[in-house]
Amino acid sequence: MGSPDLNIPHNLPLIATEDLEAVNATLTSGWIAQGKAVSSLESFFVEKYAQGFSCALSSGTSALFLALKGLGIKTGDRVAIPTYACSAILNAVYMLQAKPVLVDVLPDTFCLDPQGLNEVQDISAVVAVHTFGAKADVQKMIDSHVVVEDCCQSVWGADNESLLGMVGSAAVFSFYATKIITGGQGGLVWSRDESLLNTVKDYRQFDGRTFYEPRFNFQMSDIQASLIVSQFKRFETITRRRQFIARQYLDALPIGLSFQKGADKTGAVLQRFVVIAPNVSIRDRFQKHMLDGGVNCIVPIMRFELLHNYLKLDPQQYPVAENIADRTLSLPIYPALTDAQVKLISNCIKNFKI
Ligand SMILES: *Cc1c(COP(=O)(O)O)cnc(C)c1O
Repeated sequence: MGSPDLNIPHNLPLIATEDLEAVNATLTSGWIAQGKAVSSLESFFVEKYAQGFSCALSSGTSALFLALKGLGIKTGDRVAIPTYACSAILNAVYMLQAKPVLVDVLPDTFCLDPQGLNEVQDISAVVAVHTFGAKADVQKMIDSHVVVEDCCQSVWGADNESLLGMVGSAAVFSFYATKIITGGQGGLVWSRDESLLNTVKDYRQFDGRTFYEPRFNFQMSDIQASLIVSQFKRFETITRRRQFIARQYLDALPIGLSFQKGADKTGAVLQRFVVIAPNVSIRDRFQKHMLDGGVNCIVPIMRFELLHNYLKLDPQQYPVAENIADRTLSLPIYPALTDAQVKLISNCIKNFKI
């Protein structure tokens, strides 16, 4: 087996000693289901936003589903979502038997195009994704739309003026293994709207109710919550490390390769560092060059994964997403990378002949 530096994975969770201690304390406490640790994660979000209500859940997908349900989205309602996004969003819309209306994205941020949103009619709600850590322009949408902010890839970040997630009607988070803060799995809804949150809370569990209504089990366990709460204590360190790594890569980028807008912003909370190549063949060559150097990179969303392609809609209606899918590559940016690995990756980027 060669040096581990020669096969750097695209992503790895960072579990610190404090995390192990926190989880261990829960495991030995006699209570491992939804309990005190879940409540403390929820209070933590309310304190962070200094207002509102929150509900921890089993995943980001269940958070999206329940946020939309809390907004009253029902069978047949039209929900606008970006086509350049993971299928979790589509699934959440279908779980409500609502109708997804796909909108193209902007070429610089990869986030939902507010202009494109204005061109679709009869929209009951919009899911605006802060893609990979870039900020979606929710402000431009809220005058005429009800917006759920999908913060699964950018916990609070991207903006020095205010925390992401505060502009729309609700914000949803994911704590899946590849996200900035993880509990293995997990999700959360935050909102200023108490009745929305009451709907979410009501639906998450079914035990001990005075009247029956179909409800589900979307609970987070205290095992997961204690890991998440423990990781949030290092939030500043984690995000600063991601920013530091991004800066090394920005400095190393050869002329001709660019990057997703926002990656160079101070205070950005980046889930991914995404390079933009001039075309698909250079992108593929760049990916192979990195792999030959021992660095595993991924195409963040492939062409076939674009939601309009899953739904067999006309790709010509979504030119920006098609273009981004062909030209982008995501580099390792997680805090578990050592300085030596970051240097190795930076050198590998620098040595690419375009
Ligand atoms: C990960 C993710 C989700 C889904 O979260 P899960 O916890 O995996 O269900 C939804 N939206 C975005 C933008 C995501 O990145």
